[in-house]
Formats: sequence, structure tokens, C-alpha cells
Amino acid sequence: MVSPPQVNRDATRSTAHDPLQRELRFLKGVGPRRAAELERAGLRTADDLLHRFPIRFEDRSQLCRSTDLRPGETAAVCGEVVSAGLHRTRRRGFTLFEMLLRDDAGMCRVVWMNQPFLQDVFSPGQRVALYGKVEWRDPGGLRLTNPQYELIGDAEGDDDDGVHTGRIVPVYERIGSLTTKQLRRLVHDVLQRLPPALEDPLPAALRRRHALPERREALWAAHFPAAETSLELLNAFRSPAQTRLILEELFLFQLGLGLRRRAHAQGRKRWTIRVDDAIRRSALAVLPFRLTPGQKTALRAIVDDMRQAQPMNRLLQGDVGCGKTIVALLAALVVMENGLQVAFMAPTELLAEQHYLSIERLLAPSRFRVTSLTGSVGAKARRETVTAIETGAADLVVGTHALVQREVRFRALGLAIIDEQHRFGVLQRATLRDKGRQPDVLVMTATPIPRTLALTSYGDLDVSVIRDLPPGRRPVKTKLEPESHRDAVYAFVRRRLQEGRQAYVVYPLVEESAKTDLKAATTMAQTLEALFRDHTVGLLHGRMKPDERGAVMRRFAAGEVHLLVSTTVIEVGVDVPNATVMVIEHAERFGLAQLHQLRGRVGRGPHQSYCRLLYQGPLSQMARTRLKAVAGSTNGFDIAEQDLLLRGPGEMLGTRQSGVPTLQVADLIRDRDLMETAQREAFAALRDATVAASVLARLDDTWTERFGLAGVG
Ligand code: ADP
Ligand code: MG
Repeated sequence: MVSPPQVNRDATRSTAHDPLQRELRFLKGVGPRRAAELERAGLRTADDLLHRFPIRFEDRSQLCRSTDLRPGETAAVCGEVVSAGLHRTRRRGFTLFEMLLRDDAGMCRVVWMNQPFLQDVFSPGQRVALYGKVEWRDPGGLRLTNPQYELIGDAEGDDDDGVHTGRIVPVYERIGSLTTKQLRRLVHDVLQRLPPALEDPLPAALRRRHALPERREALWAAHFPAAETSLELLNAFRSPAQTRLILEELFLFQLGLGLRRRAHAQGRKRWTIRVDDAIRRSALAVLPFRLTPGQKTALRAIVDDMRQAQPMNRLLQGDVGCGKTIVALLAALVVMENGLQVAFMAPTELLAEQHYLSIERLLAPSRFRVTSLTGSVGAKARRETVTAIETGAADLVVGTHALVQREVRFRALGLAIIDEQHRFGVLQRATLRDKGRQPDVLVMTATPIPRTLALTSYGDLDVSVIRDLPPGRRPVKTKLEPESHRDAVYAFVRRRLQEGRQAYVVYPLVEESAKTDLKAATTMAQTLEALFRDHTVGLLHGRMKPDERGAVMRRFAAGEVHLLVSTTVIEVGVDVPNATVMVIEHAERFGLAQLHQLRGRVGRGPHQSYCRLLYQGPLSQMARTRLKAVAGSTNGFDIAEQDLLLRGPGEMLGTRQSGVPTLQVADLIRDRDLMETAQREAFAALRDATVAASVLARLDDTWTERFGLAGVG
């Protein structure tokens, strides 16, 4: 099924003699202690070290003479310490550390505020490099204020080769006891040992197109840039050398995604899906409403995919409540009409249960048989279901990940639908697919994925986005309420219940204190029961048995329970259109995306819906920003972008599960633009057999490992 070129482990270059793979602990000046410090920071090899960019650069090529300093400038000065000492001032607790510096031209005064420890850093006779703001003060005159400093002529040797001065110098973040200066020296040593030519994974044509230097040159210039390099570009990580190394990393990552995509596209289904008028009529028969334009477009793309000879591999993305389920179900109908089976996977039992109930209802008039399989069904029922799946007696199975366990064998699985799986990554999806026999795969997520992440975590999928909501929806009105407004919030809830609506009260369940929180949720339910005597209060939490939970949920969906107190188990997918109020307790403890997901449980019907975020002060800066972001927007895409900025991609999706790679030089936020270029270039490279062959032949073990390239060729 796989055609050449392949990533062949035996054929890849051995890393044993690669100077870049030399371990740092064997370098001069790196003892066991430093090696351990470096290792803790994730740096084991020379290659690791060279791919840790300086945090910024200072231009010490244009050293300013002490006599030429001008107020308002930022200047680099280099010279010898004449005197240095701490001065107490009349303001209590305020110290000034003052230094007199001499260079070839004369002397200048340097002042640091409230840094008394500098006493132990400077002594007369030392050579230092300073970089900072020039000010004019009256009295006192011209001075450098709070500059960055670096000792250059201390015990560690001189600067004969001009590593630390006389050029644009890199400034590194300290690693353990290693100072920026020691790191600079180390990097310089490593660079000097580089062989004259390095393998380059970037195709030459790509390099030319983007005017990028070769690998060796780039490694040098990313640390020790030529004098004419723009400091502004360097500090924005966009010098040609930096761009090249970032692009290289993203290119390799995208190459992996591209290979996976290609392997998938080369698969061939063992059946053909047909769509005729009879099938269209049967689909229309179950449809309880008119599809929105966004739903129609998505469905068309899905059906088009399914009619192809190669399996579908598509992501259906859309904000909570946009109506992804019905789109998936219509696709499922097409597949079942073609005599094939459908698996519908949900991340939680509760959600699987919900889907099962609503799908069963929708399909009741059809001839298709729906069944469910979760981890919690009894052994006997389970055996029966497994048999029904195997014999084809069941057409559609709704379930949790129990569905992909080994003993579950489908007679003819045509379509696998994976709902709300934003926690699934590229690799996990691949594993899952391998269990099937080339089924079509539709992944649905309600977490709007910022474009950058869509290119990484879901880069191996085709994407459809539903941007509109079903007609008549009004945005949920959201308000922040301090704890002290609790009574008013309850009064508000009561009025909605009296109008015949239903409400959720959600309690956070933090893992470490699961027990106490559970108690809080239980106590809360009791309190609310006493407060809302005319209404029925239900309680839902993760520790309940699934059938108890299902029973509560069914009663809520049927309108028998009016007020549902719950932990976050209701986070995804729950759909009760008559519920119009969502009270979130301890809203400050929830993440941004989570709050948005929770709020998505209301606003699903024709009635105006409300969300009340009850918080306990004082709020941290971060919590305040989060809460304001949720209150200020109902647009999931905006919120996701905010979330990405606040938390970073790793946190947001959970790096490991999300398939977001561990990147060395690239930054998913800073380098969004380059990610797009990388994808374009990598996919283009793969389309050209000659280019692909030469790129893949040059990949070494480290790359294949880091980007999961092994075995996907
Ligand atoms: P999500 O995309 O969050 O999974 P659902 O599929 O659960 O959203 O749909 C949310 C609600 O909107 C459901 O009650 C569903 O029946 C309803 N719905 C979906 N599409 C439409 C539509 N085109 N017109 C009216 N209601 C719709
Ligand atoms: Mg859903």
C-alpha cells in the first residue's frame, strides 16, 4: 500500500559520528555538574544546545564611547571598573549601587537601583560590558541607569577572539549555574567544531525561494550574526538564519503530517458509497428541521469524501450548539443505506448515553438498528452487543472508547465518527484507524481550534467548519457575580424556573480535593433542595454509577428535574434545549475553554439563555482576564485565540495528547506565519517524487523520532 520513497530506518544516516549528536558532557568546560544542569533543561547534545536560541541580542559592535553618550539613547559601553559601591539614600529601604567606568575615551557613571547584591559582583579592575538607557539627572548629570551587565575579563579568561564584545552578541537565558557568558562560550566552542558541510533537510529550491542560508551558516548566524544583521529582525526571531531554523523544524513536522496524510490517501476502501434519490429521501425523512447553510456545506464535503475511493479523514469543527451531531448522523445514514456499519464514539459515558438516546429517537422510523456499547454494561449485555456488531445485526453503535477494544469486530465498518475529541492527537487517531479496515473517519470537535493549532494537531485532516448557528438562537447573556450576590442569583434562577425553564448549577471538581468538592456539590444540592421547594433538584457527579447518572440525565432531559446540580461531567455534548440558565460556582477555578464549553449547554433552544459566573475574590490577574474574556464574548473562536495566548498551546491542548510536537526553536504562537509556509512547502515537497526522495533520504534518526516520522513513509 505504501509506495516509495519510504523512511527506512536502516537507510537513515547513523547518528553515531554526527558531531551535532556529540553529548555536551564530553565538551571542555562541562563537568558532571553542568552536564546535569544542562540535561535538566533538556539539553543533552550539541544539537540541543545550538537549537536553544538566545533570548535577545545586543549590539556591541558599535560600542559607544563614554564621552559620546546622549540622554534618551540605549547604548552599549565597554570598559574597566574604576570604583563601585553601595549608597544608602534618605528614602528608607532604597539603595543605589554606583559605579564609575573608564574606557579609552573617558569615564561614565552607572547607577543601579535596589540591587545591593551587585556589591558581590563588581570590583575595581574588572572589564565589563554594559547595555542600557542613558539618562540626564539633575543633580548628578549623565549616567547609565539599570543597564544589563556582563563581566568580560574575569577569571574565565580574556576575550581575545571577540566572542563577547566587538560584535552583535547573543544573550542567553541562564541555565542552572551557567551564565549567559559561559553559555556563549560553550555555543561558540560547539560551533567551531562543526564540520565544513552539514546535511540539510531543506530542499535547495525551498531555500532559494525564501532566500534562506544553509544549515551550517544558519546555526552560526543564529548565535553570532554578522555585523550588518538587523538587530530588530534578530530580536523578533526573523533574521534569515533564525527563520531558516524555525522553518526547518516546522517543515519536518509538517512532513510527518504530510506523510501520514499520504499514507491515508493511498488507502483504498473495499466498497463504494453511492448516493441516489432514495437515499436522499430517507435522510430527509429523519431530519427534524432545515439544515443551516454551514451544516449543508459541511455535509456536502463529507458526502463527497465518502464517495471517493480513498477513505475520508475529515475534521468537522464548530462552536458548541452549531449542530454537528445531525450532520454526522446524516452521513451515517448514507453509509448505512449502503449496507455498511457506523461507529459513533464519544469521550464519556454520559455523552455516549445522550447520543444513543437522541440517535435512537431520530432513527426510530427507519429500518436501522442502533445499539450502545460502553465500559459499564454488564458482561452478558456486552456479549450480545459485541455479537450484534460482529454479525451486522447492529447498524450503528454508539459508545465510548470501549468501541475500539480488540474484541469488538465489525462486520463491515464503513464510518467511524469521533465526537468531541479535541483531546485526541495525530498519533492516537492513527492507532485508532489502524484498528479499522480503512473506514471513513469523521472527527468532530467543539473546541474551536486556533488556526495555528489546526495546522499542527489536526494537520493530517481535511477540515470543515460550521460557522453559523441554528436560526433563532440568541447569544447567552453572561454576567460575573461576586459571591455576595448569591441570593440575587438564586432569585433570578427561581424566576426562570417559574417560567417553566430549567437550570444547571455547576461545581468545579479539582482532582486533588475530589472528595471535599464532591461533598460541596452534594451539600449544595441539599441546600438548593431546601431553597427551591416547588421544584425538583437533581444531582449529577462523576462518582455515580453510569446507570444512576443516566437516570438523572434522562429525567432532566424529560423536564422532570428542574434544577440540575452537577460537577463538570456535563461539560461536553449535553443537549437540553429547555435549560436556559447556567450558574457556574467558583468560576475562577475554571479554564477559559472549559467555561465556554460549560456555557454551551444553554442557549440551545428558542428561549433567551443566561450564564452567571459566581466567583470568590480576590481574583488573580489571570482569573480576572479569563472571566472577562468569557463574559465579553460568545464567539468560541475568539475565546480559543485568547486561551491560546493566555496559556500557550501545550497547556491548552495538553502537549502530549494533543499531538503538538515538542518544538525546539519554533513557537506556535510567534511563528504562526511560518507554520503555514512550512505546511505548504512540506506538502509540495511530498507531491514531487524526486524532491520527496531526497528529503526523506537525508532525515536522520533524531528527526524521525522527534516528529514521529518512523513508519509512516
Ligand atoms: P453541537 O455542535 O454542539 O454538537 P448539537 O448537534 O448538539 O450541537 O446541536 C445543538 C442543538 O441544536 C440540538 O438540540 C439540535 O437538535 C439543534 N439543531 C441542530 N441543527 C439545527 C438546525 N439546523 N435547526 C434547528 N435546530 C438545530
Ligand atoms: Mg455535540
